[in-house]
Amino acid sequence: MNGLMQQRQLLISDLIEHAANNHGDREIVSNLGNGHIHRYTWSGALGRSKRVANLIHALGVATGQCVATLAWNTHRHLELYYGVSGTGAVMATVNPRLFTEQIVYILNHSGSSHVFFDVSLAKLVAEIAPQCPDIKGFIALCDADQMPDIVVPGLACYESLVTGCSEDYAWPSLDENSASSLCYTSGTTGKPKGVLYSHRSTVLHAMSTCMVDSFAISARDSVLLIVPMFHVNGWGIPYSSAMAGAKLVLPGSELSGGHVYAMLRDEACTVSCGVPTVWMSLLEYAENVDAEQRRRDIVLTRALSGGSAAPRRIIEKFEHYFGVYLCQAWGMTETSPVVTVNVPLRKHEALTLDERFDLQMLSGRPLPGTEVAIFDDEGNRLPHDGHTAGQLKVRGHWVARAYYHREDDAWDANNWFATGDLATLNADGYIRITDRSKDVIKSGGEWISSLDLESAALSHPAIDEAAVIGLRHSHWQERPLLIAVKRKGKDVTADALLDHMRNLVAKWWLPDDVVFVDSLPHTATGKLSKLPLRKQFENFRFSTDVENTRG
Ligand code: ADP
Repeated sequence: MNGLMQQRQLLISDLIEHAANNHGDREIVSNLGNGHIHRYTWSGALGRSKRVANLIHALGVATGQCVATLAWNTHRHLELYYGVSGTGAVMATVNPRLFTEQIVYILNHSGSSHVFFDVSLAKLVAEIAPQCPDIKGFIALCDADQMPDIVVPGLACYESLVTGCSEDYAWPSLDENSASSLCYTSGTTGKPKGVLYSHRSTVLHAMSTCMVDSFAISARDSVLLIVPMFHVNGWGIPYSSAMAGAKLVLPGSELSGGHVYAMLRDEACTVSCGVPTVWMSLLEYAENVDAEQRRRDIVLTRALSGGSAAPRRIIEKFEHYFGVYLCQAWGMTETSPVVTVNVPLRKHEALTLDERFDLQMLSGRPLPGTEVAIFDDEGNRLPHDGHTAGQLKVRGHWVARAYYHREDDAWDANNWFATGDLATLNADGYIRITDRSKDVIKSGGEWISSLDLESAALSHPAIDEAAVIGLRHSHWQERPLLIAVKRKGKDVTADALLDHMRNLVAKWWLPDDVVFVDSLPHTATGKLSKLPLRKQFENFRFSTDVENTRG
């Protein structure tokens, strides 16, 4: 027997309707650059999103057709999020920091008919346009007097088009399983892979990130969305903020420590989200602000961190500088992205600050609606004992079940998606990412966690950044090499650094050698990029390698 409850489809358009109807006066603030701050409300955003929806129809974009963006976090990008998906078309957000050939690949592979772009990216657009013959129009996200001087097919001005469209629009009653947006993984190895989200997965993900033991986004929050809206839908914050009726602050492309600090202060932000490198820049800036002033300026209650492991020093400084809880979350493009969030349990209330920092180093517990588990290479489940590391697999309402137009064997018959991460799980369900499987160092048949070694190196006050890679060793098969960047004005020798690390990791894990460099390479999403490092050091021979000493 079925229940007798109403059946409604879970649709993205309902989120912005809810925000406008129930939190219509809550602000959306955008930094458009050069001191230009744009302000309107959820009610204003709804009107403009409806104009965008009419524009999408006028452009002849069909249901299920992709429309791409190359854009920073602004109110216009937000309107596209709702205006495009709300019609049944698919919003493909493209990361402008990818290599040009990857951007071209994504635009062509997604079959995008139009590209909405920020004027600061006009040069890039001019370069890619000739390689994307199926794109009918390039629409510049600006006013008529700011149009870029480029020659591309169907160049048009967003503001002129949008103001010419009616605010009258009735959102179609789509099937909740319809595709809503498309994001591609960075493709550090091989071609980027497309993940096609649905209205249903997006709404459920937003709902779960609003939950208290999650991001806890509420109507009282002012949210600074630092995570780019081209990176996994900005962690779903454009949707969860509407669902909660939170104030939304969009920083544009100005993400220096000083700019982030100013936005947090000026817009009284209570929550923000970003990757560890962004937090490092903020903390470096804040270091030079008077301690009492800092506490007065920043009213943040929590900072959400993900994308890569947050070093302990970030966690500690957030507490000491601002009294703010740095909350780690784990996820990936394939998982919408949020799967685990690190919020303490009742039993953690009595922890000392130091013990709580240890807890905060974990990547969190799974949200309801998702499952996580660790497996060995034969597919057997491993124990949740907090120290056995295995392949992390996930499944749930907002986890992909396939890539867009591409075969892949990442899924098993039970729907478990192999994340490519190695992790431990403790008895309370907290995961700790120990490595990406391609980065783990296999020394004499045992695994060494490159992340743990990096974390130990980073806990030395003279180290700014650290990468550990496994390189060939004639006896051990692979051994760790530590490549580190010293902090400005600080010095440390390789031996002193290894001595410091000796207390933090197993003795046999210690890197065989340390190389100091001026900077480390990063991916388009701001993560350490180990591929170029492996190439750079492929001929490196360890001082501990007998073959080396003989040669
Ligand atoms: P890409 O790195 O290819 O852009 P994603 O943004 O989807 O793709 O990155 C997902 C990966 O980021 C995860 O598989 C994991 O390795 C890493 N990651 C995400 N959050 C965390 C975290 N809290 N701690 C450690 N690693 C993380």
